[in-house]
Parts: sequence; structure tokens; C-alpha cells
Amino acid sequence: MKQQFDTIVIGAGVVGALVARELTRLGQRVALVERTDDVATGASRANSGIVHAGYDAHPGTLKAKLNVKGSAMMEGLCAEMDVSFHRCGSLVVGFDENDEQTIRGLIARGQTNGVPDLAFLTGDEARKKEPSLTDEVTCALWAPTGAVVCPYELTIAAAGVAIRNGATLFCNFAVASLARTEDAWEVTAEDGRTLCAAYVVNCAGAHSDEVARMAGDDRFTVHARRGEYLLLDRECAGLVRSTVFMAPSKMGKGVLVSPTAHGNIIIGPTATDTDDRDDTATTAEGLDTVRRLSQKSVRGIPFGRGITCFAGLRAVGSTGDFIIDAPRPGFVNCAGIESPGLSASPAIAEYVAELLAQQGAALAPRPDFDPTYASPVSFRYLPADKKNEIIARDPRYGRVICRCETVTEGEIVAAIHTEPKPRDLDAVKRRTRCGMGRCQGGFCTPYVSEILARELGIPETSVTKSGGASPLLVGKTK
Ligand SMILES: Cc1cc2nc3c(=O)[nH]c(=O)nc-3n(C[C@H](O)[C@H](O)[C@H](O)COP(=O)(O)OP(=O)(O)OC[C@H]3O[C@@H](n4cnc5c(N)ncnc54)[C@H](O)[C@@H]3O)c2cc1C
Repeated sequence: MKQQFDTIVIGAGVVGALVARELTRLGQRVALVERTDDVATGASRANSGIVHAGYDAHPGTLKAKLNVKGSAMMEGLCAEMDVSFHRCGSLVVGFDENDEQTIRGLIARGQTNGVPDLAFLTGDEARKKEPSLTDEVTCALWAPTGAVVCPYELTIAAAGVAIRNGATLFCNFAVASLARTEDAWEVTAEDGRTLCAAYVVNCAGAHSDEVARMAGDDRFTVHARRGEYLLLDRECAGLVRSTVFMAPSKMGKGVLVSPTAHGNIIIGPTATDTDDRDDTATTAEGLDTVRRLSQKSVRGIPFGRGITCFAGLRAVGSTGDFIIDAPRPGFVNCAGIESPGLSASPAIAEYVAELLAQQGAALAPRPDFDPTYASPVSFRYLPADKKNEIIARDPRYGRVICRCETVTEGEIVAAIHTEPKPRDLDAVKRRTRCGMGRCQGGFCTPYVSEILARELGIPETSVTKSGGASPLLVGKTK
């Protein structure tokens, strides 16, 4: 007997997770299916984390409409789900008269899109706001509504809310085929499991054209564009207070320098087209480009304080806009959701619900919907008396496992038992920040591996770094 749902959402990135959350809010029985072993493992794991104000996209496009709306929704949503968010504002800096024209054009475009409070600044005005800007900066756009958010926390929390409200998450469910019966869709995974639903929403990121083709929709293609980053230690917080973009020019889009929602400094990304939709390796060449370009806008970047580098893959659609439509009965695409997809994601979820309603889905707000997400406590932020109280109740909160980020055993155990439950080391890291500090897991990895094995009731040789074939231990040497 195949499991039946109202809607199956394919892909548990930020878009799929927020769509699942919205549909449970509207009373649907939802299955969220994901081909990897956790949520937030695609573009929603590795991006700049900027909530764009909305001046970049061309007026009239879905990108423009959903960016401005999503950006306005983001702060409230993050507060509701206890997700790290910081309204830091953003600057687009220019270096010559051409850039000044570009910046004035962005201001006009932003105003058309409905972005509030955009301002033109001279180079000196911009340096007053952001003293680390180089003397080469001659002008800037200031957008006070720009913000930063933690993208994987947002995805995890949205999936957690969906699950709390009845959704079922199927991990390691790589959709291999879709079949239309008289009034429903059968969704079959590579391993043969099949689920059934009246509606399917395709949120498969860089693979969204492949999933669309499974439903008989071959109108568009998606290709991957890699973006590489450097991340600096939290010690460097204050280098810049707002997100510093460079004005786009014939030479490219430049790179940004920005605080993250957790107080690190992020620098990047590059933009390199690649045939491999899953290759998130960094390259010496890409990181050199990041270092070289960023020094044009911000001076004194302490690259020696770099703690890691990483890359994400943009899902670039062939139409130039987000592809969100219903090409077949009961089948909705959320394809080619490249930047500003994170910023737009709350609005995309509402838009998908509108499309499903037009397709005949019965949607009505549930009075018992619980919009909150109980993330495990962040012990390091608590006052001393509260810490002592928690340790007295559960001594595991007195054992620090990650020294760089001050993460305790109690937090790790709580995270392992909170939906969506982590099954590998990186998944624990995304929930607790264990291993995200200066030593990048050099100290805590063996301890987290031991705790994961104990709590999941599996041998330590079965613990992986990131699911699939990524074992941490292969056996005993003696
Ligand atoms: C380098 C970079 C920088 C960016 N910066 C920003 C920014 O600052 N601000 C902003 O607003 N946006 C930014 N974006 C865009 C933003 O990250 C994306 O728009 C957003 O994360 C897309 O979410 P998604 O859920 O559509 O895709 P993803 O997060 O990629 O999720 C898709 C999911 O589908 C799963 N999947 C694929 N195929 C299948 C299948 N057959 N069966 C089951 N599951 C499947 C994948 O495993 C994946 O988990 C950036 C993107 C990149 C790459």
C-alpha cells in the first residue's frame, strides 16, 4: 500500500522546507522528500546569507516581486522560529563615473520595485558609515533594509515547524520518476519506494529541470554556477558592519564582504559555470580571485584569520527569472531559484500555495498550527546563573565539547533528538555550530562522533561526515 499525502514537496532546501511549512499551516498532509540524508545540503547550505533589499532584479519579474515581499517577511519569520537574523543594511560601492551611473540606476530600479529608504552616498559619506572602505570608493548605494540570515538554520527550522505540524520528512529519497494517474501523482525513489499525492511541488534546486522533465515539462534547463567563499574568524567582527557589495560592471559583479548572522566575516562569491551540479570543491584560483577583488572595496582584510573556505552551486535557469508555475495538472515548479532565492523564499512559499489553490487544492489556515521552532538552547549566550541552573538539572551541559564555539554535550544531545533529526557530523554542526570555530572540528570531531553513535544506537564506524560514502572511521588498527 503506497503512502498517501495531499502534497509531495521534492527537495528540502529553504524553498521546499518553507513550502512544506506553509502547506501544513494551510491544513495539508505533506511529504517532504530529499535525496540526501539531511535538509539544507544544497544551495541553502552554502550561500552569502544576505536578505537582499530588492533593488537588483528587473521590475515586473518574479525575482523582483518575491524578493521585496520575502525580505519584508523575513525578520518576523526568523523571530517566530528562533533563527539568527541581523538587520545590518547593505552598501553597493562604486569606483568611477560609470559605477555612479549604475548605482543611480539601481536606486531608480529599487524604487520601482518598492524598496524603501534607498539613498545615494558620496565616497566620504560611505566611509563615515563603514570606515574600512578603501579610498578608491567614490560613491555608494545605501539600503537600510538589507539584512543577513543564517540560511541553514532557516531551512532546518522551517522543516522542523512543518514536521511539528504533521509533515513527514523522507531523507535519502532520491526521486527517480513521476507518474500521473487519473487524479494523482506517484513519486518513486531510486530505491523503489513510492509515495502518492494529488499535488507535487518541484523544489529540487540545481536538479529542478530533471524533476520537471520527469513530469513531462521540458520547457527549460538549469545549469550550475559555482560560488567560492572565504570565512574569517569571529575575532574579525567589526571589519565591516554592513554588507559591502561592489557595483556590477563589464568586469563582473565583484565580491561582497559582509558580517554573517553569527558574527564571522564572509568574503565572496566567485561565479564559475560548471557541468557538475554537485561539485562544491573550492579552487586555489577561485579563492585568489576572492582575495584580489575584495581588497578593492575593503582595506586591511586580515586574510590570515581565515578559518575555512567553501563553495555553493547556484541553480541558474534558462529563462532568466524564477520558474514558478503549474505546467501540468497538480504539478508546480519552483525551479531555477538562484539569488535572491533565499531572500524571496518566504514569499515563494505563499505564491506556491496560491498556485495550488488555483489547481483546486483545499487550503484553509489551521487554528492549531504551531509556528514556533524550539531550537536547542545556545548555552554560550546564557547568563551565568541560568547556565548553573541548567547544569544542575543536566550535567551534560557542563561538559564543553566544542571549545571554539562553546557547545556543550547537552546541546548536541538535544539537537540529535530534535526534528529534523541530524544523522551525520555536518548535520550536527549546522544545528549546534559544533566544529564551526577556529579549529574547524580538530578538537571536537571524535567526541561528536562518539555522542552521535551512542545517541543513534549505531557503531561508531557507521557515523559519516555528510551521509553516503563519507565514513569517519573505517575500523580499528589494534
Ligand atoms: C554562491 C551562492 C550565493 C547565494 N547568495 C544568496 C544571497 O546572499 N541571498 C539570497 O537571497 N540568495 C542567495 N543565493 C541563492 C539561494 O541560496 C538559493 O536561491 C536557495 O538556497 C535555493 O533554495 P532551493 O531550496 O531552491 O534549493 P536547494 O537548497 O539547492 O535545495 C534543493 C534540494 O533538492 C534536493 N534534490 C535535488 N534533486 C532531488 C531529487 N531528484 N529527489 C529529491 N531531492 C532532490 C537537493 O538535494 C537539495 O537539498 C545564493 C546561492 C549561491 C549558490
